[in-house]
Amino acid sequence: MTAVSVRNLTKSFDSTEVLRGIDLTVPEESVTAILGPSGCGKTTLLRLIAGFDAADSGEIHLRGQLVCGEGRFVAPQHRRVGYVPQEGALFPHLDVGDNISFGLRGRERRDGHRVEELLSLVGLESVVRQRFPHQLSGGQQQRVALARALAPGPSLILLDEPFSSLDAALREGTGRAVLEALKATHTTALLVTHDQSEALSLADQVAVMRDGMLAQVGTPHEVYRAPADLGVAEFVGAAVVVDAEVVDGSASSDLGRLNVLPGFDDGPARLLVRPEQIELVGSSQAGVEARVIDVSYFGHDAALHLEVLASGRLVTARVSGTSVPVPDTLVRLSVTGPVAAYGTEV
Ligand code: ATP
Repeated sequence: MTAVSVRNLTKSFDSTEVLRGIDLTVPEESVTAILGPSGCGKTTLLRLIAGFDAADSGEIHLRGQLVCGEGRFVAPQHRRVGYVPQEGALFPHLDVGDNISFGLRGRERRDGHRVEELLSLVGLESVVRQRFPHQLSGGQQQRVALARALAPGPSLILLDEPFSSLDAALREGTGRAVLEALKATHTTALLVTHDQSEALSLADQVAVMRDGMLAQVGTPHEVYRAPADLGVAEFVGAAVVVDAEVVDGSASSDLGRLNVLPGFDDGPARLLVRPEQIELVGSSQAGVEARVIDVSYFGHDAALHLEVLASGRLVTARVSGTSVPVPDTLVRLSVTGPVAAYGTEV
């Protein structure tokens, strides 16, 4: 069944249209990331789905039931939706146990087992139960916030940038723990983020939002490898854009001959090459010649900034960190795998 179905949703604040016709379908037991730059309307969409605000027009269905639209508005407490905000979700004067059991009712609230179960679900030891929020790390606080949101057994969890206040190391581990807890409880989730790698690594489906509209909805692989347009391409990851003429699914460019993904008619095109598709080739014949201008070394890999000698074009290649050429080295490079092509009109 479909967990969330949003149809032609609009919302304005004063005279500013913040959501301009959103259509989104979220399958049950999946994680959908809403990815977009600051101010594009992500939180507004989440708040409308939670029922904290009403839409101006359009419809929201949760598990097939109309909760907003056609004159109907179901209050948040009747939507079976849990909400985890960026930070500060926990009551500072309650310990972890009481924070979690706040969302429980009756016997479950008095019986400590459910709290233990929820703590273990989010990967926390039961010893943290007596601690207060200020005695927890940021990652632990977010796990407790999720445990509290999961306590009443919601069918949908809304996560609004839940990892943005965590440092990079904590962010990945917390993200994985949250994902496992969602899968274990068969809970559908909508995750709002402006972090591309978070969206690509955690979600089953990514909805790329731009100026109050969804520019593309697809799997992480689709939005990364075959973005709807170059704007999405550049938002979702680093991009090298090359002009070329496509003939019979192939293009001759100053990065050599490139295979183009199906679906583009012959003609002038702008091609999307991801930096990790640019490889250094050993042979003196293959590829095109380039000079290393500078290197950003990251340990596991490195970004090489290169100048293609024949055209003077500057490109970035992402190569393994095991053998990184130094600046001024002459190298040969070629592009592996097909590339997406777009029309040249802006
Ligand atoms: P961020 O990533 O920075 O949180 P966002 O994509 O979640 O941004 P929203 O918080 O949905 O964006 O805000 C979208 C726009 O709507 C912004 O310009 C914001 O100022 C405006 N906005 C949001 N809520 C209100 C409100 N209650 N009243 C007036 N304007 C609002």
